[in-house]
Amino acid sequence: MKCPFCDKNIQDSCFFEGNGFLAIYNIAPVLPGHSLIIPRRHIKSIFELNEEELYHMVSFSRKVISVLKTAFNTGAFDWTIQEGKEAGQTIEHLHMHIMPRITGDLPDPGDWYPKLKDNVNEYLDSDKRRKLTNTEMQRIIGKLKKVNP
Ligand SMILES: [Zn+2]
Repeated sequence: MKCPFCDKNIQDSCFFEGNGFLAIYNIAPVLPGHSLIIPRRHIKSIFELNEEELYHMVSFSRKVISVLKTAFNTGAFDWTIQEGKEAGQTIEHLHMHIMPRITGDLPDPGDWYPKLKDNVNEYLDSDKRRKLTNTEMQRIIGKLKKVNP
């Protein structure tokens, strides 16, 4: 199967990049601001990153969160990696979900992933969630690209 994160069109959803990592906006966000951090090279697991890459991933992610902090006006975030199919990893290219959180956004303030399992508001998987239109995606990417980390 073709990897969606290795497709060159992924660049259209990218709002920040550096040190071998990209920040992309989720095509079907669970909550506003739902973004993904992915390594440029195709690897499946966090264990395939060397120590330096691991450092870059965390450091890069913190910069992405600074951007989202400004753009979505919150200091609360979930950082989630689903490592392996049993943990809910659906795309076999390492990715970390970055989810801005605000009071009352979900029924409970805990981790968002159990909500997917319960299919709350049909969040079950990205196929069932509403996808952003091209215009919506370009609007949000344009906004995020203007924010200084
Ligand atoms: Zn890939």
